[in-house]
Amino acid sequence: MSHDTTSSALSPGLPQEPAAAPGGTGIHIDGLTKTFRTGRREAVTALQDAHLHTEKGSFLALLGPSGCGKSTILRVLADLEHPTSGEVFVDGKTPAQLRRDSELGIAFQDHALLPWRSVLTNIRLVFEIAGRTVDKAYVDELVQLVGLTGFEKAKPAQLSGGMRQRVSIARALALKPSVLLLDEPFGALDDMTRQSLNLELLRIWTEKPATTLLVTHGISEAIFLSDRVAVMSARPGRIKEIIEVDLPRPRTPEMMRTPEFHALVDRASEILFGTRGAAAEV
Ligand code: ADP
Ligand code: MG
Repeated sequence: MSHDTTSSALSPGLPQEPAAAPGGTGIHIDGLTKTFRTGRREAVTALQDAHLHTEKGSFLALLGPSGCGKSTILRVLADLEHPTSGEVFVDGKTPAQLRRDSELGIAFQDHALLPWRSVLTNIRLVFEIAGRTVDKAYVDELVQLVGLTGFEKAKPAQLSGGMRQRVSIARALALKPSVLLLDEPFGALDDMTRQSLNLELLRIWTEKPATTLLVTHGISEAIFLSDRVAVMSARPGRIKEIIEVDLPRPRTPEMMRTPEFHALVDRASEILFGTRGAAAEV
């Protein structure tokens, strides 16, 4: 995290060499270790020397046992936690720069909508926080994109769980982020709602491509949605193996019944549990 790509701003007027983006484009995590101090003498090592590289505009799922550090990786990328050691860049920027430049779209399991605000004003809030003029036309477009037309004035309490998560996805997209961080956004929903929202997510991602990192517990879901699946080991977390998902796009639910799909699910189970054909959920 030692690079400073903002230094060119200190010498205005001078011709600038285009600075090489540290780590290139996409997400670059090198040797990331994160230790949480939990007491005067106690500490938890959540991540130990984790490496992860993704291409710009790609969709990567993070899969791993509970407590292996998946959320910690996302929180470091979101600049909500700082690495104990290691380097983290996205498109050559540090998480702090990404956050300053409003390049991050974040949706977590807890939708964190403000209960007294409507669908529209909850989405508009991100513009207010970023100090930007609300792009009303774009917010309307997003409401339509996530399938909430007709519910613009509804408050969170008047919406189903799935609809609330749709609002948080719209909110995550509102500032046209280049990086989308999704931490089990549909994790608390029932299976059917979750499956239909996954399909929606794919459609949205195709329309508004962003470098996406999705944390999930579902092996099938990870494979269905992603270009690559990073399987993590138990705490202290590190990336155990990357599975290339070479299924064509656009993905359709029928693909989940093909031998190719089942082979990928088996492969992920094998890495996670050391056995073939184990339970499909972590
Ligand atoms: P996952 O998302 O894979 O379930 P997390 O990234 O949330 O795992 O957590 C990884 C480990 O780090 C867990 O053991 C968790 O208890 C610990 N941890 C996470 N955040 C903190 C924190 N703020 N303070 C102390 N320990 C934490
Ligand atoms: Mg988590």
